[in-house]
Parts: sequence; structure tokens; C-alpha cells
Amino acid sequence: MFSGKKKLGNKLSISKIFGRKEQNPIRIADKNIHQWKYTTCGYCSTGCSIEVGLNEEGKAVASRGNANADVNRGKLCIKGIFEHELFDASGRGDKPLMRKAPYDAWQESGWDSTLDHMGSEIQRIQETYGKDSFAIVSTGQLLTEEFYTLGKLARGCIGSNNYDGNTTLCMASAVSGYKRSFGSDGPPGCYDDFEHTECLMAWGSNLPEQHPIIYWRLKEALEKRKFPVIVIDPRVTMFAQFADIHLAITPGTDLALMNSLMYVILDEGLEDRDYINAHTNGIEEVEACVKDYDPITASKICGISEDSIRQVARLYAKAGSAMSIWTMGINQSTHGSDGVVGINSINLITGNIGKPGGTSLSITGQCNAMGTREWSSCSGLPGYRMLEKPEQRKEIADFWGIDEEFFPKKRGLAQTDIFPAIEAGEIKGLWLVATNPMTSMPNTARIRKILEKLDFLVIQDAYADVETTQYAHMFLPAAVWAEKEGCFTNTERRYNIVRKVQEPKGDSKSDFWIFNELSKRFPNGKKIHFPDTVEGAFNEMRELSNGPGRTLNISGMTHQKIEDSCGIQWPYTTEDAQRDEDAANKADEDLIATGSGAVKVARAVKGAQRLYTTGKFQTPDGKANLIPLPFVNNNEVPCTEFPFWMNSGRVVEHFHTRTRTGKMGNMNKYSPTPYMEMNPDAAADQNIKHGSYVRIVSRRGDAVVMVQLTQRVARNSVFIPFHFHDCVNRVCLGLLDPHSRQPAFKQGSIRIEEVDQTLAAQLNVERRTY
Ligand code: SF4
Repeated sequence: MFSGKKKLGNKLSISKIFGRKEQNPIRIADKNIHQWKYTTCGYCSTGCSIEVGLNEEGKAVASRGNANADVNRGKLCIKGIFEHELFDASGRGDKPLMRKAPYDAWQESGWDSTLDHMGSEIQRIQETYGKDSFAIVSTGQLLTEEFYTLGKLARGCIGSNNYDGNTTLCMASAVSGYKRSFGSDGPPGCYDDFEHTECLMAWGSNLPEQHPIIYWRLKEALEKRKFPVIVIDPRVTMFAQFADIHLAITPGTDLALMNSLMYVILDEGLEDRDYINAHTNGIEEVEACVKDYDPITASKICGISEDSIRQVARLYAKAGSAMSIWTMGINQSTHGSDGVVGINSINLITGNIGKPGGTSLSITGQCNAMGTREWSSCSGLPGYRMLEKPEQRKEIADFWGIDEEFFPKKRGLAQTDIFPAIEAGEIKGLWLVATNPMTSMPNTARIRKILEKLDFLVIQDAYADVETTQYAHMFLPAAVWAEKEGCFTNTERRYNIVRKVQEPKGDSKSDFWIFNELSKRFPNGKKIHFPDTVEGAFNEMRELSNGPGRTLNISGMTHQKIEDSCGIQWPYTTEDAQRDEDAANKADEDLIATGSGAVKVARAVKGAQRLYTTGKFQTPDGKANLIPLPFVNNNEVPCTEFPFWMNSGRVVEHFHTRTRTGKMGNMNKYSPTPYMEMNPDAAADQNIKHGSYVRIVSRRGDAVVMVQLTQRVARNSVFIPFHFHDCVNRVCLGLLDPHSRQPAFKQGSIRIEEVDQTLAAQLNVERRTY
């Protein structure tokens, strides 16, 4: 019998135990890397600096994390590790295509004739049905300079007010909540806050899976210094498993819990009264509102025991500094914007904004969700300017050289309202840029019918096989990720740069080039200057960002400085840049004076880590708003006919609608099959076996999924990853938040039915083939 430490150290013995005859050490294949090129990961909003390894033929063959980058410090998650594979992933478009109707065959067409036709069709539709009858929906995937250029084209040349981004599906509630509380968008905190906080509360965020490197930063901080981590989520997520306290809240009842936490804090005198008096308005209204949410009452709504509510409120309020993070569990709700305001209010009344370890940090979604918020002009004008403010309309009109009357006086429809407007016949033409509503929008059966009504649908995407292309009249092939250059902004307001690693595939072009070329087809395109280079567009943004009181100030940045620093956080002003330059020169002079022979080298610079450090906000009187938030339960809740809560979310190996991750062998093999987590006891009730297929049915539609039995979900709940086509978004409700217009993807109800196993397996195989 095997025993004793002596034999454990003997490799030969271990080989024998496991039945191996020969030693077979792991070898890492030599990929003959000739050059490493700096760039930034193009998946999530963490913003990891990445290096792509090229072989002698210039082919991308490896990826690795950049060790000098403060964000990821050499680490990458699984998506970043395989990112070089996406250059050769299947389904890329490499030629512009046109057809008269979606049932016709595609015809290849040159760029000139395609863009001529696009320009004339847009103008024909606008002349026939009105300026706003042509809509544009973009994305969080483009580079920031591309967003700025698209905004110039959409607002300055095309002039439709129905222009929005798919960030309405993920970040709109965070934007809306920040604006309502602080007077402006822009996450006030940063990853460094983990190093200082004494209590972290995560609302509807599964950080280890959605943002693995941010989670690693949190773990690093926890290894140095223990502080409590509280996770609020209906599901026992990976994050919940690692938390000190998990509050398994009833779906969609966050506001009741937030109000109750504030009740305890105010009732027990744990608030920061000095901060409230000096820096906020509205405390009386909030105090009056939360009186209805004592822990006993709230516990009956949100399913968290009164003791837990009191314990968490005390823990958070008594911490020297405390921070909250959140993602889609808050944003994708009928009251997502209120949820964000509630989180901000808890932090305001405890004095936890703008100090190290005390913040409200929205963890954003796509790699450049922040870039579109800042510069795309989707909901306003560039640099967080608003259409509703005449002086800001004039400022931009003058800068671009057009008549200010060309701009609408308030923002138009959000993405989620554009589709119903197509349904109602008010919008006749649509241009989708790097977004795939046939998979990403709620109630996809309705979206399918809506797309079929369009006179003219243009898809601009790196992938010709995105599901929405089936309904298109025109396809514009775009370069992907590091086939082009420009900036991304990450969750902590950090600009980082994507450098070009490879040439665009075939005849595909950068989105920047496409926007510039299309602008020439419009009268205002001849008045507005569209710089030929991405850096030229960046310089315009720098200029527009400069000015007194502007938090989004990037005037001190350059592309080169961003790369040298592996990212710079805004604000970073010309004065900051001058100060850093002077300090660097002084250091050089000192070195030379010591006779060390040092030469001037590139130096990393830092921007501002935090916003609102002085307690001055972007509101007219500089004070933050405390807003009362009565909870109205408008969720679709389980009933006899549809007895299960249906929850959806992302898994680590997927990214948006799987246009990339679904094609890459090494990524796709981890989660290739549409599946559903189900509680084993609930499954036993219906005689459902692990690994079998079932049909899920809601009031909207149905879908077929494979069952995975797990205690992660409660007996009356299921969880389904949301990136599979023809899956969970066929059944979800998608009620819209009144402030942000973001859909409630997560709080719906379904029933589970048997399905023919052979047919379901056949369907599964078909769906796995791109
Ligand atoms: S954590 Fe996000 S940014 Fe970092 S490597 Fe993974 S997907 Fe890319």
C-alpha cells in the first residue's frame, strides 16, 4: 500500500501509481515569435494591455499580457489568451455586398458604388419620410476616434435624431443613474479602490466570470488585507461562492433592499451627516421614503432576512471606506436606473464618493462602452455635451462648421424604441454598426418581423454571418479589433490604445475609413472637416475636451503617451501633461548632473484615479442629488402557468452574441451548447435528467436547451447564458426602464416542457455549426 512522504517525492513511483511507463513532461510549443506588438484587449471593459506575437511571416500566433500595465500586470483571461486567433476566425466579410431584397442573392460591389448607393438611399428615405425616418444603431466595440467620427457623420451630416448604441442593452441604466445622482456620466472610482476599501458590496455582478482580471485585482487586494465582501445576487454565482456574505435576493427587488439599508443607516445614526449637509440635496425626501422600508417589511419583499439587512447596513456604514460595484443584475431591469441611483445614494449618505476605497463603480460591459458614452454623440453631442443645452449645440456646430439649427433640440429614440418605431412604420431605413439585434434584443421573434419591414437595412460588421445579415440589403465589411488603430476607454476611465497588428482581411476597411468616405456623400460632409488619420480625430477630441470644469478632459494625452503609460485615466489635462513633462526633464537633468550618462526615456504618466474628490459634482449648484425611490413591483413573476424565474447572463468563455468566441476552436469548445442551469430537486419533480434537452416556454416564445443540474439556482429559478442565438432572448420579457430605456432581460417567468430528445440533439448539432 502506498504511504509516506518519501514516495510522494519520487517521480518514478508517482508515474507507476498513475500507470505511466514513461515520463512525459508538458512542452509548450515554440511558435517562433519574431515580434510582439502592443495593443489592448477587444472584449470586455477591464481594458487589459495585450501583446500579440507575430511569426516571421507576420502572422499572429500568440497573445500575452503586458507586465507593465497597471490594469492587468501581465495577466489575461481565457478570452485574451486566445485573442490572436480571431484574425482567422470563420465568417469574416471581405467584400461589400448589395441586393435589392433580402430574398435575392448577394452581389459583390466595389466600395465607391456601394457607398454612393448607401448615401443616395439614406437621402431618398429622408426626403420621402422625414429626416428621422432613417435610424442608426451602433455599438460598444468601435474605437473611440471611430465613435467620434460616426457621431459627426450621424449628427452633422445625416442629421437623423434616431441614433443610438447597443450600449442601451447594457450600460444605459448606469449612465442614467450617474447623471441623475452626480449630474454627469463617468464612473468616479477605479481598481485601486480595492487596495483601500474596508468593505465591498457587489450588486448583480459575477466578477470572476465577467471581468476575470478585475476580480484578480480584488483577490490581490484581499490577500494583502482582509475586508468583507458582500455579494447580492439571486444565483449562487462564482462570486457569491467566494463572498463572505451572499444575499440571495428575490429577482428584481433591489430597490426594496437598498431602501431598507438606508433605513437602518439613518435610523441608527450611521450616516455621514457632515458630508450629506455639505455635498448633497434631497436628504429629507429620502428619509421620508425609506421610512416605509424597515427591515421587517423589506425582508418580505426582497427575501433577505431582517437580521442580514441590519448586519450589512452596519458593516457598510461603519467601514472607514466602503465601495459598491455592479453590472447587469442592476442595469438590465425595469428599474435599473433607480437601482444605480440607490447605490449612489447609499454611498453619498455614508460619505463614500471620491475617496480611496469609497466609491460607486459601475463595471462596464463592452471593451469601449465608455468610449461610445463619451464621444459617439448617441444620446447628445461629443464629450458628454447635451442636445438640450443651446450653448453646447452652438459650441459643436461652430467647431464642426455647420449651422446649429441642423441639430435637434433634444435626444431622439433609444435603440429599444427605434425597433417599435420601425414596427409602427415611422422608420424606414436602418444602419446597424457592429451589433446583432437578432440575437441580442429581447423577444427576437418580434425583432425578426420588424427587420422584415425595413425598406433599407445596412449591416456594417467584421462578420458577414451575423444573424441579422439575413434581413439586410447591404453589407459593409469592417476591419476587426487590431486590424486598425485607436483608443478604448475602460471601466476606470482609462484610455488605452489598440495598435494595428495585422492588415484588414480582404477588402474590408476600418470603420473610421467607412465613416469618412460616407460623409462625402452628404452636403454637410463638404463643410465639416473629417481628418484623414485616426490621430487627427483624436486631436479634435482633445481640443473639445479642454476647458474649465470639464471632467472628461483628455487634452494632455497623445497616442504615444497612452502606449508608453499602458493607459492613462481621465481627466488628464494639458497642465497635467506639462507638470509631468517638467518633472521628467528635471529627473533627466538630475541624472545627467550625477554623471550617470542617462538619456531621456519614455516615462509612464498617470491621470486622475478618482472623480469628485472635493465633493463638487456636475450639477448646477455642485451638490449631488439624493432621490427618493419608492419600489413598484412591475416584474413578471412566476405563476401557476409559468412557475420558474428565468435569469440570464454571460459565462466566461462567451462574448457578445458569440460572433467571435463562437468561432474560435479553443474558446468555443468550453461552452458550445445552449444550456440551462436547473435545481436538481425541481428537475426531479418533473423527471428531468441532467444532460437531457427541454423546451422552455414564456408568454413570448420558446427555446430548446440542454439541462445542467446544479444547486447554484434556487428550486424556482433557472439560469441561461444569453449569447446563444435563438435561445433565451426568444423568451425574455424586455420591459423597458422608464429613464434609461434599457430592457429587463433578467426578470421573467417560464415553464419547462418535455421535448423529443433526438430532434433536440439534431437541432443542437445544427446550431453549433457556424
Ligand atoms: S479580462 Fe477582459 S480585457 Fe482582460 S483579457 Fe479578459 S476579456 Fe480581455
